[in-house]
Amino acid sequence: MIERAGDVIPKIVKVTQKLSKGNFTAPKICPSCNAKIIKEDLEQVAYRCVNPSCPKQLERGLLHFSSRGAMDIEGLGEAVVIQLLGRGLIKNFGDIYRLKEQDLLGLELFAQKKAQKLLNAIEESKKQSLSRLIYALGIANIGEKAASVLAKHFGSMDAVSNANESQLISIHEIGPVTATCVVGFFAQPQARSLIEDLRKLGLNMKQPKSQVSNKLEGKKFVFTGEIEGISRDQAGEMVKVLGGEVVSSVSKKTDYVVAGENPGSKYQTAMKLGVVILNEKQFKEILND
Ligand SMILES: [Zn+2]
Repeated sequence: MIERAGDVIPKIVKVTQKLSKGNFTAPKICPSCNAKIIKEDLEQVAYRCVNPSCPKQLERGLLHFSSRGAMDIEGLGEAVVIQLLGRGLIKNFGDIYRLKEQDLLGLELFAQKKAQKLLNAIEESKKQSLSRLIYALGIANIGEKAASVLAKHFGSMDAVSNANESQLISIHEIGPVTATCVVGFFAQPQARSLIEDLRKLGLNMKQPKSQVSNKLEGKKFVFTGEIEGISRDQAGEMVKVLGGEVVSSVSKKTDYVVAGENPGSKYQTAMKLGVVILNEKQFKEILND
C-alpha cells in the first residue's frame, strides 16, 4: 500500500501479504553509482544516495534547475541533458552557461537553428528572479514557496547564503528543518563556489528592490539586554534587511527599544522619553508581521 506523502514521493505504508510475493526491501545501494543509500530520519519518506557526485543525482538536479518553475530553460529537457552529460559537456549548473553552438551541433537532431534557440533560452534564463534561482539550486526542503519567502525576506543571494539558523527560524514561514537545510547547503564549499561561478556567469542574484520588504524603513532601533537565541549582530541584521536602522543610544528619535533579558540603562532612558519598548516576543512579531 502506497500513499502520497511529502509532496510527490510515494510512501510505502504496508506490505499486503496476500498480494505480494515475498517482502519489499528498500534498496541498500544506489542503482546509479553504487554508493550507500540511507534514510535520513524516520519521519522522512525518502531514501537518499549519499554520493554528492552521483551521476543520476546530477542529471535530476540539472533537469530540476532548467525546469519550468525554476530557471525555465526551454529545450534543455531530459534527452538533451543526458547527451550533454554523456559527452562530458556539463558537469555542474555553471557549465550550462558555458555551452557553445559547436557543443550543441554535435548532439542528436541539433541543427544550427535549434542550437541557437537553446543558447538564447539559456542566456535569457540568467535574468530569472532570485526566488527561481534559489529554488533551482535544489536545496532539500526548499520548494517554490520557501524560495520566494527567502528571496523576499533577504533580497539577495549573499544575504540568504550568510543567514544563520536563528535568522531563518525568525521568519514566520520557515521552520527549523528548512532552516537547517538552508544553512547546511550553503556551508558546503562546493555550494559556495557554485554560487560564485553563477555570479561570474552573470546570473541575477538580487530581488528587485520593490519586492523586498522594507516595512521597517526609517525606523530606528536600539537594543538592550540579551535576546534568546539571537546575538545582537544578528538581531541588527534582521532589522537592516527590512530597511530599519540600528542606533546605539536612546533619544526621542528612537522608534523602538528592544529589551531582552537584563536590560541596561537604555531601558530607563526609553521609559523616561516615552519610547516604545518591545519585549523579545513583540520584536519577533514586528519582524514577521
Ligand atoms: Zn548515487
